[in-house]
Amino acid sequence: MSTHKIIIDYEKCTGCRKCYRACYVDVIAWDAEAKRPVARYPEECATCSWCELSCPEGAIQVIPVNPVSIPEPYPKSFYPRSYVKE
Ligand code: SF4
Ligand code: SF4
Repeated sequence: MSTHKIIIDYEKCTGCRKCYRACYVDVIAWDAEAKRPVARYPEECATCSWCELSCPEGAIQVIPVNPVSIPEPYPKSFYPRSYVKE
């Protein structure tokens, strides 16, 4: 199953914990030993991007993967005749 990607650039990360506090669904955990965040459950990510927006260093990137296929456009019969180009 494809899942969201949460990329953390540890070269940029200063360990401020803002992303960890921002993630309300507990996807981002804190590695106390390494003093840095880890994306522990990316499959549960709500793709709200709060972690990305809260990072002052621009060290997090959230790349959503949407498993729902894009619906086909509505059939022509759905529209009033004047809207439809023959
Ligand atoms: S995008 Fe939202 S839910 Fe996903 S890891 Fe970041 S804060 Fe958590
Ligand atoms: S908000 Fe950014 S700088 Fe702070 S701990 Fe998270 S990734 Fe590191």
